[in-house]
Amino acid sequence: MKTYELSVLRISILNSRTECNLKAKQSYRNVKAGFSGEEKVMKYLEEARLTSKVEIYRNVVLDHVQIDVIVVTPKLICILEVKNMKGEFYFDPITQQFYRIIDGNKEGMRNPELQLQRAVKLLQARLHRKELEMPVKGLIVFASRAGIVIKPPTLFPAIPIDAVCDSLERMEAMSQKLMTTEEMKKVKHSLKQNSIPVHDDELLERLGIERVMILTGVRCMSCFCVGMQRIYSTWLCGSCGCRDKNAHMATLQEYQLLFGRQITSKDVMWWLGIEDKHLVKRVLKQMSEDSMGTNRSRHYKLKFEPWLLSHFLATEMKKF
Ligand SMILES: [Zn+2]
Repeated sequence: MKTYELSVLRISILNSRTECNLKAKQSYRNVKAGFSGEEKVMKYLEEARLTSKVEIYRNVVLDHVQIDVIVVTPKLICILEVKNMKGEFYFDPITQQFYRIIDGNKEGMRNPELQLQRAVKLLQARLHRKELEMPVKGLIVFASRAGIVIKPPTLFPAIPIDAVCDSLERMEAMSQKLMTTEEMKKVKHSLKQNSIPVHDDELLERLGIERVMILTGVRCMSCFCVGMQRIYSTWLCGSCGCRDKNAHMATLQEYQLLFGRQITSKDVMWWLGIEDKHLVKRVLKQMSEDSMGTNRSRHYKLKFEPWLLSHFLATEMKKF
């Protein structure tokens, strides 16, 4: 599973397990809009007539800076910062502020130009460390036709999505360099994540969500309602009547995406909504790959199998 899919999963889990949390709802909408904007860009990129061996990277995080899309060809490295929003946009070169006017209201937001500048510099420095001198380009892409740039940025071009192919093709045509296969590999290595982080330990704090605000319980993988009941040796969904012996396995993947891979038996009881200690033991035996500590302070390391949530992810993505 890819990094961006895990981000979509995390926010979808929170959205479905918290009520009336404005920040979480807003963030869910933003992730959705961002994701569908990137998907639109990907469709356009398929049409671009670029040098063969095009490699596209999505949702790369370089030193905490999130990059939406990177296009790499032997003649070009270009970072795309994708904005999928409506309104009229202003990049202020003096105050370095970025804001939009929508329905007569002025709304300040994170400046994509500065974000992109940071990303370009970081990647450039990484390539330089690998003794690869290839210029890193940047483009700000407005993916929604209802997003209009009134005051353009000064450091990078801001273009509507329809112009993506042309712009990239033009950049390639102007490029003086041609990377070898070896050099392309260096780029790939520079973008490689050490490991895909299971959870984002700042997410809950960022959204102002505390543990107690989260709706716990086993999720039905047929109708996605939370709160399956343990009946005999299976889980029963009160909403759709579905029975699933292994429903807790996917629900424990949700736990990991929010809180990380370590868990105690108390956490299992809380998260799955069960009190039966024997059941907890069985679940941990089945779902953990390692344990640390003894007795009461014992911690277990859960098996990370996010694909158990792929049906849920696919359904969430369709909503986007
Ligand atoms: Zn159900």
